[in-house]
Formats: sequence, structure tokens, C-alpha cells
Amino acid sequence: MKILKKIKTKLKLLSHSGFTYYCPFCGYRAKDWEVVGHDLPVLQEKKVVGGGRRAAGCYKCQSRDRERLLYAFIVEELRLPENKNLSLLHIAPEIKLSEILLNQNFKEYICGDLFTPGYYYADYVKNINVLDISYSDHYFDFVICNHVLEHIPDDKKAMRELFRVLKPGGKAILQVPISGNTWETHEDFTISDPKKREELFGQFDHVRIYGQDYSSRLEESGFKVNRINISDQYKKLGLNPYEDIFFCEK
Ligand SMILES: [Zn+2]
Repeated sequence: MKILKKIKTKLKLLSHSGFTYYCPFCGYRAKDWEVVGHDLPVLQEKKVVGGGRRAAGCYKCQSRDRERLLYAFIVEELRLPENKNLSLLHIAPEIKLSEILLNQNFKEYICGDLFTPGYYYADYVKNINVLDISYSDHYFDFVICNHVLEHIPDDKKAMRELFRVLKPGGKAILQVPISGNTWETHEDFTISDPKKREELFGQFDHVRIYGQDYSSRLEESGFKVNRINISDQYKKLGLNPYEDIFFCEK
């Protein structure tokens, strides 16, 4: 059975190989991307960027468009690995990206996640609660915290914590799934049923769908927000043309 699986994988990689796209994590060159993600009416209706069913997966290493976007921005655009003096905090770290950042000999690279029973965490990940980050004020130069805030009822408290641990002038990347056609964030904390949450917010453990007011929520927490789109410069990485980076500054 194992051999059969290997042959199937080889054939799949052969049939999708090409020169249009490139995966920066595994080096696979492809003519297209694998269709991934779940389709839910709410994700379509609200044109949610950063989730839903789409052709975005690498056939070889399963990287997704949003992970490749982070790679392009952090490694290619900002060239963070060239500055070894940085202290970084990476909440809920994306595995492929964190493995690259771990190898850069930064002054400090802390990965943290809120440990939940039944889930596996790599041994370099610490138990960190984003509502109460166990580091002093102005500690980090750079914070990466993606697809976390939509899980947290008191997201403003989490934003204030992320702001607190950043040095003045420090930067943060704070991505969330965001509705492309709604201004106001939709949240309702009386809803705790996972089925209902999936129906309204697009995932069983999300407590809201952010609207275009996401930037102002970040600004209320003290951040200066720059919305940046680099999809055109990195066509080969198959980025979502609608996915902006919320690049925040203290
Ligand atoms: Zn790949």
C-alpha cells in the first residue's frame, strides 16, 4: 500500500509540474495549484479573503497561498533574515515559515501558542497566551500573529497586549480572515454552538468575521496600520490578489 501511495504521489507531481508557479518552501515548480479549503455560503456571500475553497495548495508540501504571502513579505520584501539583531515573537507559528525563521540566528525568535489539550506543538513552541503575554513592555522588534484574533472574544485586549510587547517603532503582521464587501465586523458572543459559529463566522471556533473596519480596530489599540498588497510582484507564488498584508507599527 505504501508503494502504491508513493507512485500515486509521484504521478500527481509529474502531472502538475510546469513553469507557471513556484513554491518557495519545497521548490516545486507547477502549472497550477491544488484546490483546498472548505466552501461555506457565508464565506462566499461576504467574499472572505484568507479562507474558503480555492486553488491555492502546493501539490508537494501543501503550503497555502497565505503562507507563501508571509514568506514573500518577510523574507523577500522586508529581508528580515538580514538583520540578526532582531527579537521576534511569532504567535501560532506557521510551521514552514517558522522553520525558516528558526534557522536565521536572530537575536531572539520566540514561538508561542496557547496550548490546548489534544493538539500537538513543536518542541520550540512555548505556551503563550496572547491575552497575557509573559514578556515585559517594549520587548520585541517584530511580532507575527496571523489568524488568531478571530478566535478571541476580547480581541481588543489581545491587540493591546501585542502592542504592549512591541518596542516603539516595532512592526507587526496581523492577518485575519476579512470580508471584502462588509464594512462592519460581525460578532455575537451569545453564539457558542460550533455549528452555528461555522454557519455565521465560517469556522466552528471563530467568534466573528472581520469587516473592513479591522484597520480601525487595530488603530484604536494604538497601531499605525499600513495595508499592503504585493500579489502582483510575486505572481509565481500564486498569491491571492485580494489578500492585503496588515503591516502595523507602534
Ligand atoms: Zn511546496
